Amino acid sequence: MPDAYNEFARICEKLETHYKNMQDVEFTIERNKLWMLQTRDGKRTAQASVRIAADMVEEGLITKEEAVLRVSPEQVDFFLHPQFSIEATQAAKEMDQLLAYGLNVSPGAAVGVIALDANLAEEWSKHGKAVIMVRPETKPDDVHGMLASEGILTSRGGRTSHAALVARQFGKPAVVGVVALNIDMSKRQITVKDKVVKEGEWVSIDGTVGEVYSGKLTTVVPDIEDPYLMKLLSWADEFRKLGVWTNADYPADAERARKYGAEGIGLCRTEHMFFETERLPFIHKMIMTDLPVARNEALDALLPFQREDFYGLFRAMDGLPVITRLIDPPLHEFLPDHSDLLRELTDLKIRLKEARTLAETDELIGKINKKQVILERVESLREENPMLGLRGVRLGIHIPELTVMQVRAIFEAACQAAKEGIDVHPEIMIPLTSHANELKVQREVLEAEGKKVMQEQGIKVDYKFGTMIEIPRAALVADQMAEYASFFSFGTNDLTQTTFGISRDDAEAGFLIEYIEKGILPDNPFATIDRDGVGELMRIAITKGRQVNPDLECGICGEHGGEPASIALCHELGLTYVSCSPFRVPIARLAAAHAALLDK
Ligand code: PEP
Ligand code: MG
Repeated sequence: MPDAYNEFARICEKLETHYKNMQDVEFTIERNKLWMLQTRDGKRTAQASVRIAADMVEEGLITKEEAVLRVSPEQVDFFLHPQFSIEATQAAKEMDQLLAYGLNVSPGAAVGVIALDANLAEEWSKHGKAVIMVRPETKPDDVHGMLASEGILTSRGGRTSHAALVARQFGKPAVVGVVALNIDMSKRQITVKDKVVKEGEWVSIDGTVGEVYSGKLTTVVPDIEDPYLMKLLSWADEFRKLGVWTNADYPADAERARKYGAEGIGLCRTEHMFFETERLPFIHKMIMTDLPVARNEALDALLPFQREDFYGLFRAMDGLPVITRLIDPPLHEFLPDHSDLLRELTDLKIRLKEARTLAETDELIGKINKKQVILERVESLREENPMLGLRGVRLGIHIPELTVMQVRAIFEAACQAAKEGIDVHPEIMIPLTSHANELKVQREVLEAEGKKVMQEQGIKVDYKFGTMIEIPRAALVADQMAEYASFFSFGTNDLTQTTFGISRDDAEAGFLIEYIEKGILPDNPFATIDRDGVGELMRIAITKGRQVNPDLECGICGEHGGEPASIALCHELGLTYVSCSPFRVPIARLAAAHAALLDK
């Protein structure tokens, strides 16, 4: 029916041109006559959405602004992670493989065999196995296992739990806080009600929606280098007012983020660097001793490692700012776990009772004494509320040698890089300040060290000292803080925790979900910035800070920095930039453009 066909094609063309959008049409042909029954904007996959928007600009049908607004940040996210195909999840659900739901904290689908501890995950991965690391929750010394895994699954923890943060940072799909999940370490298996999956058997997790399946589902990988997406994001860059920086601890992350369009590092969490195998013993020694001489010896040993880390970041970010945050977590996090130590001591004591030779007895006594010393230290560092305890700047004031070493490493690396022709912009960030005096005291010591290094090296580099704003008091007295800070970075993870008085690590797996379900809170404040409370504190801080210093650089490096609704608020508040994990950089570029375009 060529006549009907040609007429149909003509009408479709006309409809698409009229509506300036791809159409989904219904029609019928009756006795060679074409009848159009209905037309509406067509549904489309993420890839199709991007391509249609880009094509329509090329055809002159829509403007670049319209094209940018037509693609949602969630659709950009789709390009960044493997996904389960719709067919795969449907079939798995029909086969009763859907085990449980949890928090969707790091998007993408991952498939692997269960490994119940970090060492095993690493070992299996070295042997070419795809692994999903399953833990009740993760700690910094699990990071090597997490890196080796395809995905992470935990039964506890919230959106800013260690597992969630690390997973997002490294772009590993993760589902956390799966309350229904029972992890039986003695039987080396997981159970959900009557379903059992043993260590070494396959599971599939979907971090985009928070689903956990038994078995091996098929994944598909969209392409981030998709030329249409690249074009669309470059248009987005023309419209946005916010800078888009990245949270990156390692040069490889920085490089990836830069490829995705990051314009600086907004947060390098330096403590992660201490956990690598060859460095941890020195950190242990540094914590275990009170003698300045021994402490300095341990710090001297750490210096070259840190210098190397920072040098790598400056290289990767040639020409762009790099914000390094000084050590933040409480010291006990670097020492062995208290209950593990107690258990090990009990075991050793039982073995001592059963020792058969003098040599064995001596060896065991030696081991017990050593463990006892560590235990005493761990106990002396134990705090009821470590998140409100000796961490952040308080640690820097308590043990200035530690942050002085870090600043020396930053400046030595910056000077070395600058001598090699790299354009360095170091910015040093002091965490968890609440009083201007803390900032004054730390900055004085640290800046003096920086100047000393530049003198030694015979070269000057541009630098900034600034602070995180993550305690409500700091926001309220931001004018006083701005006297000693050249930049602010909102740590909205802690700022949310301290504003609500809700523990960021416990809340999401606990009552917070109930609050959201019951509509008491409109959103999870650890995912989307609470506009009226936390947002208001940010507004006060920016206003007061810029009254003292109109050029004050104000950014955000909490997890909210990669979340579209929070990015819109950051635009509204006039922030300089948002900083998010490398994998969220493209999303942030688009979300920032949306905020600017909708503001018009
Ligand atoms: C924050 O508190 O928002 C932040 C970025 O610091 P951390 O998550 O490391 O405490
Ligand atoms: Mg913080």
